[in-house]
Amino acid sequence: MARPMKLKHLIRLSGQKNIFPFYHTVSPEPLPHISHLYRVLKPAEFEEDLDKLLLFFEPLSLGDYLENRSGGRTKPNMVLTFDDGLKECYDFIAPLLKKKGVPATFFLNNRFIDNKGLFFRYKASLLVHQVRDDCRAKEKVAAFLKISEEQVETSVRMIGWDQRALLEALAVEAELDYAGYLRIRPVYLSSGEVEELLNWGFEVGGHSSDHMDFSGLDPDQIVKQVRTSIKDLQKRFGIQTAYFSFPFTSDGIPREVIDTLLEKGTARALLGTAGLKCTGKPEYIQRIPMEKYKIPVLDTLKAEYLYYLLKMPLGRNRLRY
Ligand SMILES: [Zn+2]
Repeated sequence: MARPMKLKHLIRLSGQKNIFPFYHTVSPEPLPHISHLYRVLKPAEFEEDLDKLLLFFEPLSLGDYLENRSGGRTKPNMVLTFDDGLKECYDFIAPLLKKKGVPATFFLNNRFIDNKGLFFRYKASLLVHQVRDDCRAKEKVAAFLKISEEQVETSVRMIGWDQRALLEALAVEAELDYAGYLRIRPVYLSSGEVEELLNWGFEVGGHSSDHMDFSGLDPDQIVKQVRTSIKDLQKRFGIQTAYFSFPFTSDGIPREVIDTLLEKGTARALLGTAGLKCTGKPEYIQRIPMEKYKIPVLDTLKAEYLYYLLKMPLGRNRLRY
């Protein structure tokens, strides 16, 4: 039987010398607002990921990558980013990154800084948590939605941006208080913590005001959302950088929008979540989601590289947008 390809060989064959892994958070405790949506790594698991990544990749800040300051490195580069501006970025992630000398960029939802609001998907996760805990709440939610109790979790998880008002109505039924939850248990970074991250040398970027779904917006509205998110951070924290990671995905963002944002200087870098992909522009970056699969970190990368290599003869690695 053929021996499995080594990651090093896959990297060399693909010619892809930069990777952009992205995470959201790590926590030693379960996070009810997230745990029903995606896997939350424990700090020790994240540290293990990091150590393995560092065996193969040289860490580089987004700023240095954009300015081509990778130097004469022998290893390929890794630019690490974190989406959604969660509190654990300050509590666990940044201290670990500092210890290991790994730079990173944190993408923030402007309206959620200081716990002034909660992402609608986190509300859905909290609702799932509540109905699992409390059968009376489950009964009431089922009755409100006119569905069976077995369908409650799936239905709540499927609530999209356009139906987000439903999450408020269901919270009343389930006697769940989102604002109260935020008061007892801060979900997001505070302004002070963001300032501290910047003092430590990390970078921040925008991730939209409230993690909306851009698929329903026209090009002008998208440009406006990106500009507002970046400008607000520049004003609040006195930063010069202009980075933006698209909420959910950059799929469906028209090419003219990407071009306008980059050419007019509204954004210096735009980031999506399509995995290992070429976009034809170094400032338009596609990242690898690292919390999606329950497999060891290097296997996730190998799968990304293999997939990339399989599509190479078909010319399918260039992102069509
Ligand atoms: Zn996000």
